[in-house]
Amino acid sequence: MIAGPAMLYVKDKDLQPQYVKLQHFNPALCSIVQKLADYVSSSFNKDVIVTCIYRSQSENDSIYKNVTKKKKITAHGVWAAIDIRSHGLEDNIPDMLKFLNAYNSTNANKTKSGQTAIFHEIVGHGPHFHIQYQKKEVHAHFKNGHGDGSKKSSGK
Ligand SMILES: [Zn+2]
Repeated sequence: MIAGPAMLYVKDKDLQPQYVKLQHFNPALCSIVQKLADYVSSSFNKDVIVTCIYRSQSENDSIYKNVTKKKKITAHGVWAAIDIRSHGLEDNIPDMLKFLNAYNSTNANKTKSGQTAIFHEIVGHGPHFHIQYQKKEVHAHFKNGHGDGSKKSSGK
């Protein structure tokens, strides 16, 4: 299923409405993912597939319950993160991370390690790219406005 213009796909139909919401809540992140898809398409002739957009904090807690006792606050709970399938893109990981981390300087919601994108593996959930981004000047508006992250958009 095509989420945006060409070469960017969502994994299954439950993610399509989440992508539409993300375009509203975090257009800058959508734009980065679209640019990534264009880059991956033109440089490596491959597709970019989105595997996760919104995840509630409680879902996140259960994913990490066997990994750490510390509570990990997820950017997926505030429409500030997106996961990309890495299978088939193994050779392109360093280039893709370099491309994405060029956005670090305008990112108000970087990972703990200070990055926009990381490649990581959660036990039981496989390796993937995690991209998190909130445009600096949009952040205050986001806090005061919509997107409290409490609404679930699908059964997942
Ligand atoms: Zn993620």
